[in-house]
Amino acid sequence: MTRPRVEERPSPNHGERLAAPVDILLLHYTGMPDDDQALAWLCDRRSNVSAHYFVHADGRVLKLVPEDRRAWHAGASRWGDTDDVNARSIGIEIANAGHPGGLPGYPDAQIDALTALSAAIVGRHPIPPHRVLGHSDVAPGRKLDPGERFPWRRLAAAGVGQWVEPAEIGGGRFLQRGDADSRSGGPVEVLQSMLALYGYGVEITGGFDERTADVVAAFQRHFRPARVDGVADGSTIETLRRLLAALP
Ligand SMILES: [Zn+2]
Repeated sequence: MTRPRVEERPSPNHGERLAAPVDILLLHYTGMPDDDQALAWLCDRRSNVSAHYFVHADGRVLKLVPEDRRAWHAGASRWGDTDDVNARSIGIEIANAGHPGGLPGYPDAQIDALTALSAAIVGRHPIPPHRVLGHSDVAPGRKLDPGERFPWRRLAAAGVGQWVEPAEIGGGRFLQRGDADSRSGGPVEVLQSMLALYGYGVEITGGFDERTADVVAAFQRHFRPARVDGVADGSTIETLRRLLAALP
């Protein structure tokens, strides 16, 4: 893998890291039609947003914030035991118009550069594969990026992030909004426990509420992108089971 050439484009939007270690890599799309405008916004003091890196569609990489500083990209978010994802993460903004722009695909040159950059980052910090995440993973319902067309499988093939083959979509029983367990340890509680064990911010209530549907959709967007509907079908649950089995 070739090392991407990284140019400096400093953003003023960062602060001190008050938590350690840096153990999450968080990927975003810009969600704006104009890449230069997106970049300018991340470097504008008035925006109060930033990321450590910006990856152009043609693979050019810009460094906005030093890795030892806390960049402002995650917003209200949660993963595992932390709700200050910014303090614990490196953030990369990927130039892509996203859902508002009809969800265009990611060009090969961009993904190659992103993969090389990410591989170098996870090599510098104690970031295990299962903590390479999308913004939607840590902010379900609020964020959709980097979206269901993002090639997580390709990154994982290069050693960045965790990926298991999604289970085939079929029939059978499923859980959805409005379902509720009639006893403790019922199927909704088991599903919520599995999602929480992986890291998703969901309460274990035994009731399939809006939050649970948002978290299931976030899970699908990342790990079972063929159908993103917030319904916990057999394929979704089996894919989650495979991921948990693959955890160290
Ligand atoms: Zn984002």
